[in-house]
Amino acid sequence: MTTTADAVIVGAGIVGSATALELARRGVDALILDKAGAAGMGSTSASSALIRFSYSTWEGVAASWESKFRWEEWEEYLGYRDPNGMARFHRCGKILLDVPLIPRQRMIELFDRAGIPYEVWDAETLAKRVKGIDTGSFYPPKPVDSDEFFEDPHGRLGALYNPDGGYIDDPRLAAANLAAAAAHRGARFAFRRRVMSIDRVGDVWRVTIDGHEPVEAPVLVNAAGPWSSAINKMVGATSDFRIKVAPMRQEVHQVRAPASLRESDAEFPAIGDLDLGIYTRPESGGNMLVGGTEPECDPLEWIDDPDAANLNPTVERYEAQITRAARRFPELTVPNRPNGIAGVYDVAEDWTPIYDKTALPGFYVGIGTSGNQFKNAPIVGSILDRIIDAVENGHDHDSDPVHYTCRHTGHDLNLGAFSRKRERNPDSSGTVMG
Ligand SMILES: Cc1cc2nc3c(=O)[nH]c(=O)nc-3n(C[C@H](O)[C@H](O)[C@H](O)COP(=O)(O)OP(=O)(O)OC[C@H]3O[C@@H](n4cnc5c(N)ncnc54)[C@H](O)[C@@H]3O)c2cc1C
Repeated sequence: MTTTADAVIVGAGIVGSATALELARRGVDALILDKAGAAGMGSTSASSALIRFSYSTWEGVAASWESKFRWEEWEEYLGYRDPNGMARFHRCGKILLDVPLIPRQRMIELFDRAGIPYEVWDAETLAKRVKGIDTGSFYPPKPVDSDEFFEDPHGRLGALYNPDGGYIDDPRLAAANLAAAAAHRGARFAFRRRVMSIDRVGDVWRVTIDGHEPVEAPVLVNAAGPWSSAINKMVGATSDFRIKVAPMRQEVHQVRAPASLRESDAEFPAIGDLDLGIYTRPESGGNMLVGGTEPECDPLEWIDDPDAANLNPTVERYEAQITRAARRFPELTVPNRPNGIAGVYDVAEDWTPIYDKTALPGFYVGIGTSGNQFKNAPIVGSILDRIIDAVENGHDHDSDPVHYTCRHTGHDLNLGAFSRKRERNPDSSGTVMG
């Protein structure tokens, strides 16, 4: 027996689930396969789920701004209320500390073009608005076990502040919400289905699943997150990509937030601090999450097999990230025992995702999300649906890229910006910031 569908999506993370919803809205019979037991159990579950608008490309900025409105009106966007609970957007504000890697003026121009509210802060304002912060500039980031790390600052930092930034309180639940809304509209989710091989049989893709009957569909979408390269290999889509992707292990740690940040009733803002090589955001219970921004002085953890990644925090990474956070917030105490999680990014060479068709008929990819696409998921579903619809109806997206008009903002996105064949984005920060 073989199961058939109009479209098969491999991966029920935030990308696959968002795509399933948009396909289902258009009446496409979508079947979503995931080796895990539920939606959002892959890299999505480890996400810090920050909502920010600072990307190096117009399409990145405009997509994140459009997505903000969908997060704000989550239930309306889904068209469904999940009885198992709804993920929630916390609008705590987002600060981007000045750093040469992300020129302030370029960000301002992109924010102005997109109509994104922002404030420009000098060091004095930063100190006033964020209690307990050390506004010193230490750039470039140094290894925390070097003498240079403890040198005095060589200047004071200003910042760009977006009052509309924030975070989603439960990224796994957000994926589950999308999956539930998609299922409500007829999408079929099959969990504990590990895709073992994929073949082209006539004009359909035949997907072989461990211990279950195969599935066939004319359209196949790779939304396998950090496992995306393995799926591309199964399909035979490797030579077609100018931009390569690869899995990279990352850790995010949790500590008690400094007392001065906890004093206020309002949540303290999230901070992108590439000056020291970290980002921070509030976490429930008066805590703070601290993640890394790939400072050049730290080794990057490229891995071969995401299934073999150590998902526990290590002492070395914990000390590096929390010691940097303590440099920014001198009140922060650094507990001895590492607390946090590890996850895996699917990193594209220029830290910009690939949402595209491929040279193979009916094969599409939503990959290379580079640690920065959770926030964009609500629009990623629309983007992939738009590309699939156009290409399946004969459009040549490679030579004449499809555009997408954002519903809330009216902004135009040239989806060629996410092409597998694009030139490497020259403005990329070369970090998770995109
Ligand atoms: C530590 C960390 C922090 C992050 N912080 C942020 C942030 O603050 N803001 C932000 O916007 N983004 C952030 N991200 C990035 C964001 O979370 C990811 O871009 C996004 O979650 C990727 O979703 P996905 O659906 O592509 O992948 P995944 O969630 O990994 O989903 C892929 C799915 O494919 C399934 N799969 C894989 N192979 C197979 C197979 N052979 N058969 C069947 N199923 C298969 C997996 O089980 C998995 O469920 C972060 C990521 C990490 C890891």
